[in-house]
Amino acid sequence: MKLIADLHTHTIASTHAYATISEMAAEAQRQELFAIAITDHARTMPGAPGPFYFESLCIIPPYLNSVRILKGIEANICDYDGNIDVEQRLQDSLEWIVASMHTLTLKGEPTVKKCTNAYLKLAQNPNVNVIGHSGSEYYKYDYDKVIPVFAESGKLVEINDSAFRNKKSCIDNCVTIAKLCKKYGARICVDTDSHFTNTVGRAPETLKMLEAIDFPQKLIVNASTENLKAYFDENNIAY
Ligand SMILES: [Zn+2]
Ligand SMILES: [Zn+2]
Repeated sequence: MKLIADLHTHTIASTHAYATISEMAAEAQRQELFAIAITDHARTMPGAPGPFYFESLCIIPPYLNSVRILKGIEANICDYDGNIDVEQRLQDSLEWIVASMHTLTLKGEPTVKKCTNAYLKLAQNPNVNVIGHSGSEYYKYDYDKVIPVFAESGKLVEINDSAFRNKKSCIDNCVTIAKLCKKYGARICVDTDSHFTNTVGRAPETLKMLEAIDFPQKLIVNASTENLKAYFDENNIAY
């Protein structure tokens, strides 16, 4: 299996990532991707760009180097009620929202109960497309309770390949989450969370893991252009 899109990537706008949108698009073309989501960090992450950066993303054409560029953001889940640090107007205008928990931006000691509540509330936000890297060891939640809700609300549960590259403590959680997505029919996306060009579109360890658990390809939104276009159609995203 090969990915046809990478739906969580960063550029120099995040200031701790090191390639431009043009460089990321060129690499996506080399990897023969159909689409890439540019999802720089939202404002409460140290070094992140302000709302004006995200509002102005509309000047970027829909396609660069024949790759569909989704104008997005990686929102920070900023409390245990599932609120995100993106103004409503911006939530409505961006094409792609990944929402994630980060230790730099989500304060207060996490518990399974608090994280479960945060994700259940987040699932009600119609603007959120992707639940980012929820396999975190620090922010564990009641997977059995929440994943059926993600399935019902159409949220894409991200399996983030950086867990396999950098955060090996999360791997077991990622496998558990993937198995439950299979069980409850929740769609997933496999993303690289690339902060430079060298990893764009490449998630060999995640794909190996999904094959090992016999994960159905029809539930992987970025496993085929057919799957992704079906998701775009359901969510009024142009291509
Ligand atoms: Zn980052
Ligand atoms: Zn993140």
